[in-house]
Amino acid sequence: MTSEASGTADIEIDVEALNKRYAEERAKRLRSEANAQYTRLEGKFADFDKDIYADPNFTRAAVDEQLDVLIIGGGFAGLLTAIRLRERGIENFRIIERGADVGGTWYWNRYPGAASDVEGYIYLPMLEELGYLPSQKYSPAPEIHAHCQKLAKHFDLYPKALFQTRVTGDAQWDEESSRWLVTTHRGDKFAARFLISCTGTYDSPKLPNIAGAETFEGHAFHTSRWDYNYTGGNSLGGLDKLGDKVVGVIGTGATAVQCIPHLAASAKHLYVFQRTPSSVDVRNQKKTDPEWAKSLKPGWQWERTKNFTSLTSGEPVTEDLVDDGWTDIARNIGAAVGGDSEGPQDFALSGLKKMEMARRRIDSIVKDKETAEALKPYYAYFCKRPCFHDDYLPVFNQPNVTLVDTKGIGVEQITPKGVVAAGKEYPVDCLVYATGFEFMTEFVKQTGYDLVGRGGRKLSEHWSQGARTLWGIQTSGFPNFFLMALNQSGVGVNYVHMATEQTAHFAYVIDECLKKGIASIEVSKEAQDDWVEKVLAAAEEGGRNAFLDSCTPSHYNHEGKKAESARLNDLYAGGPGDYLKRLEAWRAAGTMPGFHVTPA
Ligand code: NDP
Repeated sequence: MTSEASGTADIEIDVEALNKRYAEERAKRLRSEANAQYTRLEGKFADFDKDIYADPNFTRAAVDEQLDVLIIGGGFAGLLTAIRLRERGIENFRIIERGADVGGTWYWNRYPGAASDVEGYIYLPMLEELGYLPSQKYSPAPEIHAHCQKLAKHFDLYPKALFQTRVTGDAQWDEESSRWLVTTHRGDKFAARFLISCTGTYDSPKLPNIAGAETFEGHAFHTSRWDYNYTGGNSLGGLDKLGDKVVGVIGTGATAVQCIPHLAASAKHLYVFQRTPSSVDVRNQKKTDPEWAKSLKPGWQWERTKNFTSLTSGEPVTEDLVDDGWTDIARNIGAAVGGDSEGPQDFALSGLKKMEMARRRIDSIVKDKETAEALKPYYAYFCKRPCFHDDYLPVFNQPNVTLVDTKGIGVEQITPKGVVAAGKEYPVDCLVYATGFEFMTEFVKQTGYDLVGRGGRKLSEHWSQGARTLWGIQTSGFPNFFLMALNQSGVGVNYVHMATEQTAHFAYVIDECLKKGIASIEVSKEAQDDWVEKVLAAAEEGGRNAFLDSCTPSHYNHEGKKAESARLNDLYAGGPGDYLKRLEAWRAAGTMPGFHVTPA
């Protein structure tokens, strides 16, 4: 436990004044365009989406294959699915991936300072199987990407993967053969009994629609396509080509908090254009203690993983094995160890105190009073991703760093020479967009492909008012299709935990079908609708909707938009524990309840 982060009990706050301030700050940021204030990296911004890590001259012969399983996406979820299939002796599968290697998020996000803020001991899957232990508590991006490569090598998945390959057109369900027909931009043709979409949750970068952005004459890129040819250095920093460059960074979210210290260390001058500050708590990075490593007993990683998810989801546990900023938050909202929460009011009060601590931390680090004031977040804890970083706030004491606080308005304009914010033009040589990703929006928009299911019905039509699934993983009318996404699923803080569980579930179902000669399995409309009702009810009853509605705009609440589709595209608020029990119970029944099963 960190001394700074823990123990909010003694903090005195004026609840009424803070709630009033939070509401005022929120009102400044609400925009009628909501998510439409952003654009994808296409059209005049298509160059932003270039894969600068890949060989642009790569070619290969097209393939035409009959498969048991086609997996779209080679990040953690795609890899884990493949591993689970292999463990069950299912060999006839393919992975297609648009990047030039495995890794998904960790293939694309190589920006300096990129790291997981969930500790590596539970974020990197299958450590025991691979006989590997991260060298420090929080793993930097290169270590995570290398772990993905190790998984692929260890389980011999490279021969199964086709890289730099994108799905084109719609994936079609062929009734006669009970197969999904999928084509790619490399001319491949697949006919697969099962189709699994593992395309990630933060894989579609977005830019704000800022007037004049296309006229900028300097160098510009999004953080998830970091151009080291221009900046020098690598994910660990050392951006040695920036010494004579004035750099601007737009955004102060979780990504910006990680890359700004590196930009500040190397740029001649750095302007940080802020619309809303993040809360930044201590990180306490630690080297792995060899004595602790020796003490670990077989099964330790899964035990630790489950302990963390339980604790951070408010489920009672007797000890805190991870003991970091996340679990500290859980303890502070009083819902886990000791379990003395009084419900939503207690949660709100603890959150107010926690945020007050974050503001006090700023005062203790940032010397200039005006800058310190501008860096203070005024919204409820968890309205945005809490950040943990030891080098971010001190950056604002450096003479070569200027915080340009736009007081909730955002950057107004981009000119050929620079950025206009708070009524003033700031000339810059380089502009970094740390402006995030599309999040839990429509499947087709995010993945770039549609599905045509039974009776010619498109998934985009089926979900035109928002997602409709059973457990976020299967949907009626689309047999033999599995989806690894957050929508309507019971994910917690550690995404990799849920990916591990869900991919094992996919493999179980597929194995059962192959063993029992089942041609197709499709969730019934009743089971799907029942889950949709549960998702909606859990968000309402547990206070999630009220909380998100009261939050300052962010990608978590669709930029403040209250729409039915946003409710349906949301996660299941009943908690990961409850969610996983449902999957387990279904498997234990052994009869595939709630599904239409068609024999071969
Ligand atoms: P975010 O969506 O969190 O942040 C985008 C930033 O861009 C915000 O600060 C936003 O301001 C700002 N912005 C948008 N438009 C404008 C504008 N017109 N003018 C000025 N600023 C603007 O994206 P991130 O990439 O930072 O994070 C996305 C997610 O990635 C996180 O929520 C987290 O889940 C994940 N992540 C996880 C990490 C980890 O350690 N595991 C590390 C990094 C990211 P405003 O807040 O006002 O909207």
